[in-house]
Amino acid sequence: MSLQIGSVRDGGVVTKASQLRQEDAGLAEQWARVRTRLQAEVGEVEYRTWLKQVGLGGIDGDEVTVILPTRFLRDWVSKEYGDLITALWQAENPAIRRVDIRTQPGRGTAPNLAEPPAAALAPAVPAARADVIAPLDQRFTFETFVVGKPNEFAYACARRVAESPATVGFNPLFLYGGVGLGKTHLMHAIAWELSTHGQGGAKVSVAYMSAEKFMYRFINALRSQSTLEFKNELRSVDVLMIDDLQFLIGKDNTQEEFFHTFNALVDAGKQIVISADKSPSDLSGLEDRLRTRLGCGMVADLHATTFELRISILEAKAARAGVEVPGKVLEFLARKITSNVRELEGALNRLVAHANLFDRQLTLETAHEVLHDVLKAFDRKVSIQEIQKKVADHYNIRVSEMSSPRRARNIARPRQIAMYLAKQLTSKSLPDIGRHFGDRDHTTVMHAVSRVTELMSQDAAFAEDVELLRRMLEN
Ligand code: ADP
Ligand code: MG
Repeated sequence: MSLQIGSVRDGGVVTKASQLRQEDAGLAEQWARVRTRLQAEVGEVEYRTWLKQVGLGGIDGDEVTVILPTRFLRDWVSKEYGDLITALWQAENPAIRRVDIRTQPGRGTAPNLAEPPAAALAPAVPAARADVIAPLDQRFTFETFVVGKPNEFAYACARRVAESPATVGFNPLFLYGGVGLGKTHLMHAIAWELSTHGQGGAKVSVAYMSAEKFMYRFINALRSQSTLEFKNELRSVDVLMIDDLQFLIGKDNTQEEFFHTFNALVDAGKQIVISADKSPSDLSGLEDRLRTRLGCGMVADLHATTFELRISILEAKAARAGVEVPGKVLEFLARKITSNVRELEGALNRLVAHANLFDRQLTLETAHEVLHDVLKAFDRKVSIQEIQKKVADHYNIRVSEMSSPRRARNIARPRQIAMYLAKQLTSKSLPDIGRHFGDRDHTTVMHAVSRVTELMSQDAAFAEDVELLRRMLEN
């Protein structure tokens, strides 16, 4: 079924509201409620600036289409509010899985569907209650988590909380780090541990959910007028874990609700575990009082992986899968795929599947062949110019120094790092890289690469710096 409730002709608008059949009117009502919630979530100013012109396109199976008058608005709304609009639609109508945000075909004038029809505000039907606890991934346990320098502190904190929740100094536990570095894995591990072993024989009730799910449930509760139950349900758990808290940035109402839940639980001596992509102080966009409270317990950073950790993880995964992967292949993967563990795992799985399927020995050649496209995607991402700019910015020198003849250490070192990263992150040859750095010889590039490699193995802070740059360039 496809429903079109408005169409643009010669820049004018023809709204066929009067022709809506009853079920279509139901859709319009849902849309009206979604808009109202949207407005409440983002606030009046943002709503007027960006969202007032969002119109309803129609519904087709489990997909809703919403329309915007211009491509610019479409891109902006899609990027900034896509998740929120989807969550709100899902809260409104659980059958909906996807929201398609597009521009109106035809001339680019705003269809006047912004205001909901007057008859729109029928009482909401209570939604089916979702489970408090999101399902946990069986594979994400402490046993399967590989510990190394970059994550040992976070791991130790997670262990500690799993052993004795709500210990002073560890509440809340705030885990943060880039994508795919193991935040969710550690949270699930804590949840497994506590829900299977309890604490000193006593049962412990654990609620784990993503911040997105938290918002979705909160909005659902508002809609079905069951906020009190929602609150009570959450406040009755012993441990509350919220994953990817950054999702709440800009969602003021939900943030407010979370803040109250947070306080109620901490005051009652319950444990909170939070993950996010940044530290509390860097999560600008969260309310100050919330950020302050988030940073009050233990804050643990999951650092970018090192080569050694990546090798250990690959070895563990290969062993678990019961496949023999030659050291050379593991090394190749660990060198090429550095951005996050998820990608690394994906590449290994793909190799293993390929080897199984074709009953072939895994070799470096097959690895190259099978991962050709993946590796190309990694290569394509960064240019030498970007690398030079990022590194220059990081060390506070001018980009032009990358090609200058100056040899002062404070300039030569960043230049060497940029050369090293160019070698690691692009498929350019050594002479080619040399040319980008003021026409230097390929032996100079080679020297830079080995010097940086050497320094990284000797100096952990230096290595961390370089890995950080690499991560920033890759993402
Ligand atoms: P995040 O939540 O930080 O984005 P995840 O916890 O989802 O990352 O981790 C991504 C994938 O990488 C998961 O499959 C996880 O099991 C795996 N992973 C990450 N770090 C480790 C580790 N130290 N040991 C084993 N697996 C890991
Ligand atoms: Mg995660």
